Amino acid sequence: MVTRALDVILLGPPGAGKGTQAKRIAAAFELLHISTGDLLRDEVAKGTNLGQEAKGRMNRGELVPDELVGKMLAKRLHSQQAALGCAYDGYPRTTAQAVLLDGLLSELNRRVDVVLFLNVPDGELLARLTGRRSCPSCGAVFHLTTQPPKAEGVCDACGAALVQRDDDREDVVRERLRVYREHTAPLLEFYRGRRILREVAGGAVPDVVFQRMRDAMGSVKA
Ligand SMILES: [Zn+2]
Repeated sequence: MVTRALDVILLGPPGAGKGTQAKRIAAAFELLHISTGDLLRDEVAKGTNLGQEAKGRMNRGELVPDELVGKMLAKRLHSQQAALGCAYDGYPRTTAQAVLLDGLLSELNRRVDVVLFLNVPDGELLARLTGRRSCPSCGAVFHLTTQPPKAEGVCDACGAALVQRDDDREDVVRERLRVYREHTAPLLEFYRGRRILREVAGGAVPDVVFQRMRDAMGSVKA
């Protein structure tokens, strides 16, 4: 039996748990998990031409242009690991990137099959993100309520004093959420218009959210 490839996009605000869920979806459907952060790091680490160009731009404090990320994506999409499809984690972020992805997929006679929007109320996102505490020494991450360190304010792994990263401060988180919603609204409309957007309530434990995502995919999976 020939199964058609399945291409699934996960969208959601910072703190919604996209990364965790994208990995689980990828494992469950034998898809390649694609996050543009990993894609960039991988190309830079391998020292490819694309990676070197990206690194140069990042070193100069510039954004990596869509076109460059698109070339990296194209390489990955044409690889054997992507033959059954991909779970896109936090990409695209803009309508321009969505159009670019459509073009890449159409070269493979594929299209975006479903877009899962992990919706989590701002209050919950604030609690998740502002409760994070990080170890500046070894990089371990804790959470005041869901994953507290054994001793208050001290890293379990290396004993260093934990800090709240600037990114996780309440005022910064509020601004990140505002910017996210502003930028993503047109993208949601883009996919809603195509009738492939499924909204999933993401304010629950990961197992429950995963089941909701599977249910939402029920009508599209091969
Ligand atoms: Zn540590």
